[in-house]
Amino acid sequence: MIDSSYDVIVIGGGVVGCAAARELSRYDLNIALLEKSTDICAGQSRANTAIIHGGYDAKPGTRKAYYNLKGNMMFDSVCGELDVPHEWNTSLVVSFSPDEDSQIDELYQRGIQNGVPNLEIIDHDEIMRREPNISEQAHKALLVNNGGIVCPYELTTAYAENAAKNGVTFFRSSPVIAIRKENEGWVVDTPEKSYHCKAIVNCAGLYSDEIHNMVSEDKLEIKPRRGQYYLVDKKYAKAFNAAIFQVPTVMGKGILVARTVDGTVLLGPTAEDINDKTDKRTTAAGLANALEGARKTWPNLPGRAFITEFSGLRAHCTRNDFIIGEVTDAPLFFDAAGVESPGLTSAPAIGVDLAKMVAEALHASPNTKFDPIRKGIPKFRELSNEKRAELVSENPDFAKVICRCETVTEAEIREAIRRPVGAVNVDGIKIRTRAGMGRCQAGFCTPRVLEILSEELGVPLETLQKSEAGSRYVYGKIFD
Ligand SMILES: Cc1cc2nc3c(=O)[nH]c(=O)nc-3n(C[C@H](O)[C@H](O)[C@H](O)COP(=O)(O)OP(=O)(O)OC[C@H]3O[C@@H](n4cnc5c(N)ncnc54)[C@H](O)[C@@H]3O)c2cc1C
Repeated sequence: MIDSSYDVIVIGGGVVGCAAARELSRYDLNIALLEKSTDICAGQSRANTAIIHGGYDAKPGTRKAYYNLKGNMMFDSVCGELDVPHEWNTSLVVSFSPDEDSQIDELYQRGIQNGVPNLEIIDHDEIMRREPNISEQAHKALLVNNGGIVCPYELTTAYAENAAKNGVTFFRSSPVIAIRKENEGWVVDTPEKSYHCKAIVNCAGLYSDEIHNMVSEDKLEIKPRRGQYYLVDKKYAKAFNAAIFQVPTVMGKGILVARTVDGTVLLGPTAEDINDKTDKRTTAAGLANALEGARKTWPNLPGRAFITEFSGLRAHCTRNDFIIGEVTDAPLFFDAAGVESPGLTSAPAIGVDLAKMVAEALHASPNTKFDPIRKGIPKFRELSNEKRAELVSENPDFAKVICRCETVTEAEIREAIRRPVGAVNVDGIKIRTRAGMGRCQAGFCTPRVLEILSEELGVPLETLQKSEAGSRYVYGKIFD
């Protein structure tokens, strides 16, 4: 039995799926997004290095090269419309011995071929002038003036909120388990419901091969490639200005030392091919590798600087490129498969292209009511005292600080739940407000966050999860 019908179903609520949904909502189409996890931004878009890549790295002529540069150039307008923090702090790819210098020259040439503007090669003295904490071994560097950083979770949630505002319906906890052709369209099955649609957009990240292979004989294979990180305290936000890369290897861009827009510093990621698409463990060997790599860039890295460690899984396609577009043997089924790095940078451009392809195929007219603007949740920690006083007089919940490390107030947490596609669990609050992301890593704020979630969602504390099913905090009352 079909539960509901749509013109378009987007599968996967990562940055690419949410961008595609938002761009599709510019057209007069009835759109739904199905996400298997309890919340959007559950895959690669949650755990990455958050770099807006300049576009010098991808092989010329590939979709990665095309979408990297095109996406990079859209960040000012997209982040402006969606109120998402980003910063053009530049990237430096550094050689640490004369042997590595030729790779810097190669990357420069590749960047020129890819059309990257304003690339420069700088010498030891200029590197040291710009980055006094970098190793004295720094020899030569590619200065990528169009390199930047962005908050990946806010970009994803902002795209989702704006898509929802423009009419997209989001279904979370809705894993797609089967797809079949029926009545000039598709039927998409989840364990609880079946949906009919005219077109499908596959943005399922690590699982985009499995979704693609449900409809096509031209099989894809996505291999998980794990990246492990250490996260360094905000105290060291000023240690480096640019994102510092080492020369790349066959496995990827190597270990970075990269500040985030929130002031923490990422060390990593490693690159390990694994077989299990759910294995997000960090390992002693992986973290040692990340640390050793980071010390090559930052020899005086303080031993007590870390606040946590984590890993992310890249969706590496064995075809070594993004797969974007309509599938030849499955008309009206569109792929955004194998979107590994630089996928965060590319997402705005992939979203626009996918939406155009689908709209053209369905002869859709523009949505005259489309509103591109989304305002973020006010960030109390970043406001002047005058602005804080104003907010508190409007809403006293702004005076109640719940997360002390990140100065996140009760008003922000409540708003994160009340917004379209709002938070439904503790990690959802974390990615939307930063509550729990600071030095104590949620040690103090979790009980109060749970109480607020329970009040706002009208559910008992015992049902609330950290993220996925099985991550409950509260099992019952010991006393009244
Ligand atoms: C370690 C690491 C570092 C990176 N660093 C950078 C960087 O600095 N800069 C950059 O540009 N890019 C970077 N990337 C790449 C970037 O993060 C990804 O390309 C981007 O997030 C991909 O977004 P996505 O929406 O395609 O996939 P995802 O974010 O993985 O989203 C896919 C979604 O589909 C859902 N899904 C899966 N199966 C199903 C199903 N059956 N039914 C319904 N939903 C389903 C998943 O739950 C998930 O939410 C990095 C990636 C990693 C892992």
